[in-house]
Amino acid sequence: MKALKHDVARPLAFFFAKAKRRVASCPRSVAQHEFFHFRCLARPPGASARHGMACAMHAAMSRAWLIGAGPGDVELMTLKATRALAQADVVLVDDLVNPDVLQFARADARVIYVGKRGGHPSTPQAGIVEQMLDHVRAGRSVARLKGGDPFVFGRGGEELQALHAAGIAVEVVNGITAGIAAPAAIGIPVTHRDYAQGVVFVTGHGAGSGEPDWAALVATRMTLVIYMGMRRLSDIVGALLAAGMSAGTPCAAIESATRPEQRHALARLGEFADTVSRAGLGSPAIVVIGGVASLALAQAVADAEEAGVASATAKAGMSIEADAANPTDTARPANMTDIQ
Ligand code: SAH
Repeated sequence: MKALKHDVARPLAFFFAKAKRRVASCPRSVAQHEFFHFRCLARPPGASARHGMACAMHAAMSRAWLIGAGPGDVELMTLKATRALAQADVVLVDDLVNPDVLQFARADARVIYVGKRGGHPSTPQAGIVEQMLDHVRAGRSVARLKGGDPFVFGRGGEELQALHAAGIAVEVVNGITAGIAAPAAIGIPVTHRDYAQGVVFVTGHGAGSGEPDWAALVATRMTLVIYMGMRRLSDIVGALLAAGMSAGTPCAAIESATRPEQRHALARLGEFADTVSRAGLGSPAIVVIGGVASLALAQAVADAEEAGVASATAKAGMSIEADAANPTDTARPANMTDIQ
């Protein structure tokens, strides 16, 4: 009986060792995993979690990443993000991710769009996590590609928790968040020390109990960078004014930052909602409120000077720097409205 066991165990061990070497030595692709399952195990990979050793081997080989794709410009994606993406068998792509970043994915990767845009119906959050789990359990490595940074809004934290709860290790790859990239794209340094001691990233999405405490935020005198704030912009402006923020506070809204279609609007708080609405700006956009927003116009001045244009706007913008000592209510150029 012992000898029989030995007779069976040895060839089996050889078989799995050989199969493991074969799978490990070739590029890890969906096709190769599936070939292995059908040909060697005579079972589809989806059913494989129950099949012991071979699939434990696959599960050990498969991985999951939560990857930040950055704000839009493909060149703002990190090297680490491109390298992780290049390894994935399956890529789940979120709203706001520039599809051009998929040039870094493998040609045979399965790409699944889970966002609302581009005519695709949006997948409920639980469904996204389920899909990730199914693929990982079937031995596929999965990249979850999210706009900006995966942990700044956008529910990356919830996805990580769900995957961890299922016992799956996840590597998080940071991305450049829109809250920094969008202001920078029009020359706004969000923590310029002449204007603010810090910056607050806040969602403008919440209403009712989810509403940020705008009065408390005004009291910090820090730069406010508002994500998802466009739909409720006039309510937000009203709340800031009611909390005592000066109507002269410089503001900026930047739509589709770092993409070719980028546009922005600048105005003082008192006229900001009207200016943005007249300009027809919509989502995705970042709103910046605070003295630093006046530097966007300074940037416009620099651009105008470079182009040899000495416009009235440019001259008005020049006065901003002289006023920088008072962070919230200083920069009051004659014409602070500038749509591009
Ligand atoms: N994780 C993302 C944010 C997701 S929440 C990040 O770190 O950037 C979605 C919001 O982000 C949008 O409503 C918008 O406010 C902002 N956003 C994302 N990409 C943007 C872009 N290219 N330009 C302006 N705003 C952007």
